[in-house]
Amino acid sequence: MSKPVESQLRFVNVMRSIFNTKLEEIVCEDCYNAVDQYVDMLRAGRDAGEILPQVKAHLGVCAGCDEEFRALIAILEAEVDQSDTQ
Ligand SMILES: [Zn+2]
Repeated sequence: MSKPVESQLRFVNVMRSIFNTKLEEIVCEDCYNAVDQYVDMLRAGRDAGEILPQVKAHLGVCAGCDEEFRALIAILEAEVDQSDTQ
């Protein structure tokens, strides 16, 4: 099972360059754009909170984005369950 590590790293670099200009604060739109990758990293066993600390911080303070994040995980978990049973 191989992971597209290179594309993930490229994404991380892009995100870092975006977030660096905004320091610790991101807006909901940034969080929304990053949350897919954030969840992918979590599911790949990577330390998403370490790689994208701004997303983690935003999820901690923004109920709307946290809900989005949890919904995304629930959807992905459901997909995994489906593929397991087939
Ligand atoms: Zn938000």
